[in-house]
Amino acid sequence: MANCKLLEEIGRRCASTSVFVNAHHSIGIRALLLFGTHEQKQKWLPKLVTGEQLGAFALTEQEAGSDAANVQMTATPSEDGSHFVLNGEKRYITNASIAQVLTVMARTPVPGKEGKTAITAFLVTPDMPGFEILEARMPKMGIRGTATGRFAMRNVKVPKENILGPPGKGLKIALTVLDFGRTTFGACCTGAAKTCLQLAIGHAKTRKQFNKTLSEFDLVKKKIARMAADAYAMDAMTTITASLIDRGLEDYMIETAMLKVFTTERLWEVVNEAFQIHGGSAYFVDLPLERMLRDARINQIGEGSNEVLTSFIALVGMRGPGMEFKEIYDTMMKPSRERVSKAWTAGMNRLGAAIRVPDVPVRSEELRASARQLGRLIWRFNFAVNRALITYREPILDMQLVQERIAGAAMDLFASTCVLSRLDAEVQLARRNGDSAPPDHSAADLFLRQSFRRIRRFLGGLTDNDDKSLLAAANSVLGKPRR
Ligand SMILES: Cc1cc2nc3c(=O)[nH]c(=O)nc-3n(C[C@H](O)[C@H](O)[C@H](O)COP(=O)(O)OP(=O)(O)OC[C@H]3O[C@@H](n4cnc5c(N)ncnc54)[C@H](O)[C@@H]3O)c2cc1C
Repeated sequence: MANCKLLEEIGRRCASTSVFVNAHHSIGIRALLLFGTHEQKQKWLPKLVTGEQLGAFALTEQEAGSDAANVQMTATPSEDGSHFVLNGEKRYITNASIAQVLTVMARTPVPGKEGKTAITAFLVTPDMPGFEILEARMPKMGIRGTATGRFAMRNVKVPKENILGPPGKGLKIALTVLDFGRTTFGACCTGAAKTCLQLAIGHAKTRKQFNKTLSEFDLVKKKIARMAADAYAMDAMTTITASLIDRGLEDYMIETAMLKVFTTERLWEVVNEAFQIHGGSAYFVDLPLERMLRDARINQIGEGSNEVLTSFIALVGMRGPGMEFKEIYDTMMKPSRERVSKAWTAGMNRLGAAIRVPDVPVRSEELRASARQLGRLIWRFNFAVNRALITYREPILDMQLVQERIAGAAMDLFASTCVLSRLDAEVQLARRNGDSAPPDHSAADLFLRQSFRRIRRFLGGLTDNDDKSLLAAANSVLGKPRR
């Protein structure tokens, strides 16, 4: 949480600095912090935590972008087992050319399984013979204050003591590390969104056209209201996700993925709206908005593109109910005593979700109506997921348009829950402080209304959509057979 607060402050001011800090702190040294042995931490951490040395996290390669499991860099064990020989190239690595310690993912043979390989995490230093920076600072569109580089490893001998975590578990390590990166991404985007809102308010209140300030036009108000609502939600969502990590929860990968997709998409909209309110002046480099627009674009791509994460949110989220339906189906096909009891439990869970409208607890009377609406939407969501699983069964794994709606509804449910929780806490705090005037929660109210409307739209789209025409048009222009 404290780290997120810091990154929000940095994100308010400079996206390059936040990516630089994130690359070191959230992902560069995270695998060492989470998976390093006591000896490794003693050896490597002291200089990394004081900032004397920088860390970097190197997963991406030419063939391993979104498909992170497809790492091609090899790590071959030496005959005496004392070290591994690394060969391959990495690209798009933040801080690669200025880091003193890099966490590098490479493919190692799986002992006892001829021809099988798995990804392993290694600690690498650039002074190892054979390590070569191919490009220190790749020229790029935004976050130009960061050094994004390419490097090669040619027969680099890395001691076996530099393996981080269990051999062959590098992918799991990488994904766990990225959970942290995605949480601080949320904080940086929240900070940037708040800056955009301030800039937009300042400009709208002072710039006059048609003898009025821009703030008097409803179409400008609409943008500002939406920006305020989104900034509130981004803040609430980041705080709650960070608190899940702080509380020591074991699994928060869906929440961090939802936070990443939601906040990066919202920031892109917010920057765009602030840009529009500034008109032509935003286009010139003396204002920060053209830089903020360029800087914000990487967020939807880096640390898991939003498309990949959207599918991930839907599929991982549906895994539990999907398994329960499978249990029921398998039992119907092939009944056995043991199966029947499992299927009964699964059936009761599914039935419970189908008939019970969940209670969303709030302490403030004035929020009860919103909490009830949220409960009903959660129930509708459950129902819609059940129906999608029963209707599509296994093919749902490839139906990204269905997944997108389920993930979209899930993200808005999560965002609304966070907003309601934050709002409830604010109302209660004001009451405890004896404030006579109720706190102004119009931005949060607006968010809830708009979020609820989006959820209904996502769920409605599961049965009322243009998917067939859309896929036919895409297949037609892509020269693929129409489906
Ligand atoms: C400035 C910058 C800094 C970076 N820093 C680091 C770093 O420090 N360490 C590191 O390891 N990497 C880093 N990266 C790499 C970044 O994580 C990758 O760019 C990202 O994972 C996407 O991979 P890719 O660029 O190869 O795109 P691709 O994998 O080629 O994907 C291109 C697009 O295809 C679509 N797509 C791909 N797969 C699917 C799918 N399954 N379903 C639907 N759509 C899909 C998405 O729209 C995606 O944006 C950085 C990248 C940039 C630009």
